[in-house]
Amino acid sequence: MTGTRVLVLNSGSSSLKYQLLDMRDSSRLAAGLVERIGEQTCRLKHTPLAAGGDAREADGPIADHDAALKAVAQELARDGLGLDSPDLAAIGHRVVHGGMFFTEPTVIDDAVIAEIERLIPVAPLHNPANLTGIRTARALRPDLPQVAVFDTAFHTTMPESAARYAIDPRIADRHRIRRYGFHGTSHAYVSRATAELLGKAPEDVNVIVLHLGNGASASAVRGGRCVDTSMGLTPLEGLVMGTRSGDMDPAVIFHLARVGGMSMDEIDTLLNKRSGLFGLCGDNDMREIRRRIDEGDEAAALAFDIYVHRLKKYIGAYYAVLGTVDAVAFTAGVGENAAPVREAAVAGLEGLGLAVDPGRNAVRGDRPRIVSPDAARVAVAVVPTDEELEIATQTYALVGKNT
Ligand code: ADP
Repeated sequence: MTGTRVLVLNSGSSSLKYQLLDMRDSSRLAAGLVERIGEQTCRLKHTPLAAGGDAREADGPIADHDAALKAVAQELARDGLGLDSPDLAAIGHRVVHGGMFFTEPTVIDDAVIAEIERLIPVAPLHNPANLTGIRTARALRPDLPQVAVFDTAFHTTMPESAARYAIDPRIADRHRIRRYGFHGTSHAYVSRATAELLGKAPEDVNVIVLHLGNGASASAVRGGRCVDTSMGLTPLEGLVMGTRSGDMDPAVIFHLARVGGMSMDEIDTLLNKRSGLFGLCGDNDMREIRRRIDEGDEAAALAFDIYVHRLKKYIGAYYAVLGTVDAVAFTAGVGENAAPVREAAVAGLEGLGLAVDPGRNAVRGDRPRIVSPDAARVAVAVVPTDEELEIATQTYALVGKNT
């Protein structure tokens, strides 16, 4: 392997996010996003970080992912970072669902593509989009190693007691129904970074990670290995999210179908896209919800309380799963920025050794930091996640090992 750069691609159904990193110092050379692929009003935003220039934006039709990646390649070439450069060592792809099969980052070949395809029934929205990105990148640079980094991989260490639903195992196995968990790249990165913040090895600490973005999930990590996580067969289970309900009595679905007369697709859309904070109060952005609460808005206040109540239940549950806890780490958009969420989530948990120091909690920053009082038994930490760096690191390590 001669190159030191890794391109990280995260392809959604109508978007393509990318970052180019130099793995000698983990620095970011460029980053960008193509949105609304396939529509007339497609937008490409490219930030040449290494060159230190301003972001460049271009609007216009981009028909498909192939055209999107070619447009990205052109932008990179303008900065002298073209995809044909020998400095490019590999492309790392975020793949949402790796099932039980992929427990580690994996160099992509035809068999790997076939297996990701076989998982489409359990990830109908995500895996087809991820595959499109993989196929497009392979067509553009067939000679270059491409690595799939799976959102589910970190959770494959969960014991059966946590991963299985209490249903007939024959039915579960036939349909591959079990709890897979998601956001694994973030949970892996943040749990390790939290250990580092505590000055300990990952093997020596137990951490509860709370990834609170628009999607949200919690995980219990014992000695660097995930032992439980809140998302399940799909990302719908668990915490209250921006637009997803999280945990619910499954009979709500039968009720909505039988009594409410809703179709399965309508219920799917309701629970995934029109529930959570958005369903409760019409806003899914925590900044807006806090602003409304400050103005005395009751619906926003109730949405916040429901969100925090669920979060607190998971902290308690994972405390029990782990037995002893060294740190609770908050990450992602809400976890890193919303001090009131952190404060409310651990309020009243002094008996468990959990508390925030109001002064520390109020300080903003982009570095990992501890926001609990010095005397607290359990550290409460804010640890910014970096999924792209984690994907690039795993990709580079694997490609280095194989060459
Ligand atoms: P995604 O799941 O889309 O990757 P992010 O991790 O970027 O999401 O989180 C996005 C969410 O973070 C927003 O919807 C918003 O609720 C929240 N957020 C971002 N900035 C702030 C802030 N300064 N204060 C409170 N919440 C914030």
